[in-house]
Amino acid sequence: MSDQPPINLFGLDRRGVEALFEAAGEARYRTAQLMKWVYHRRVRDYDGMTDLSKALRNRLAEISAIDLPQVVAEHRSVDGTRKWVLKVGNGNAVETVLIPDRGRNTLCVSTQVGCMLDCSFCSTGKQGFNGNLTAAEIVAQVWLVDDQMRREGDERGVTNVVMMGMGEPLLNFDAAVTAADVMMDDFAFGISKRRVTISTAGVVPAIRRLIGRSEVSLAVSLHAPDDALRDVLVPINRKYPIAELLEACREYVAYLGERRHITIEYTLMRGVNDSLAHAKRLAKLLRDLRCKINLIPFNPFPGTGYERPDEAAVRDFQTHLMQTGYATMLRTTRGDDIAAACGQLVGAVSDRTRRAERYRARLPTTEVA
Ligand code: SAH
Repeated sequence: MSDQPPINLFGLDRRGVEALFEAAGEARYRTAQLMKWVYHRRVRDYDGMTDLSKALRNRLAEISAIDLPQVVAEHRSVDGTRKWVLKVGNGNAVETVLIPDRGRNTLCVSTQVGCMLDCSFCSTGKQGFNGNLTAAEIVAQVWLVDDQMRREGDERGVTNVVMMGMGEPLLNFDAAVTAADVMMDDFAFGISKRRVTISTAGVVPAIRRLIGRSEVSLAVSLHAPDDALRDVLVPINRKYPIAELLEACREYVAYLGERRHITIEYTLMRGVNDSLAHAKRLAKLLRDLRCKINLIPFNPFPGTGYERPDEAAVRDFQTHLMQTGYATMLRTTRGDDIAAACGQLVGAVSDRTRRAERYRARLPTTEVA
């Protein structure tokens, strides 16, 4: 036992905490008590858990820890968006972004260091893949920000979580789904399943694995109404083309039940996927899927070959979708001045310059062809 690193409590869902107590020869009913100390009263020190016996506190401290990643930088945008850069395993850093908006405090968490998928318009993909976050590292992002907000006097804390930061959550399935369980558990954050969202570029078998395992909300990054274009923008499409992806979405939403829907994300890029013809094809494509659509005007980053569309093009695109009957939200760009907007997260603190050089080396780009 002694030479193993202690288990980080943040990585355990309710069953995991029960198993911890069982392994320690303690009663399982302690689970609620312990989790409420950590998540409701926000106590991270076993000694502060005054209704647990001294012996139990010592035993817990021997076999487990309640560890937060170190905050290496914190930024605040003029629009109120905030970003934390957190140190995770192997000297890597990831970013977590808080977007306060009309009574909602949405936290955009990272699930991987970098990403394997290399979507052509996303800066995270450009750094390659450097590893999975643990469930504890995902949950700790929520704990850390929730705690800080409450200490600053915002009693609501984190109200919504979206796994739309760095990485592809469904390629880190167990950690992402366990983390979602903790977010939705009443013993922990108790956030409604409608307010915890996993966003995926379209890992079809993993969408099916969610069925029967979780009731988390799902967002799918579509970005194109046909395979030829999506193959270029979201390369995983070559493996799981649109028809298969939408079939898995229909199965998941059928499982969630009538009052739920899937969110379709569509990043608009000038001259690439933003014409009225694209909007029309998209509207037809989604006909049989219970969904809402989120339009995201492209957020530029150093070295990208893509551009944000005109406001008029965005408006026409949205209007067409709304007129065909889709609830269509335009996601306003937030946190641009602190590089916290969608697709701008790179996590680096020290090697930004080198990365910028690599971006430049890629230009002129052929990706937009
Ligand atoms: N891998 C997951 C989650 C991370 S990306 C996924 O693909 O869904 C979160 C969202 O931001 C995705 O819809 C992604 O396509 C979008 N995005 C990435 N780069 C962007 C950029 N530069 N501008 C606007 N949106 C971007």
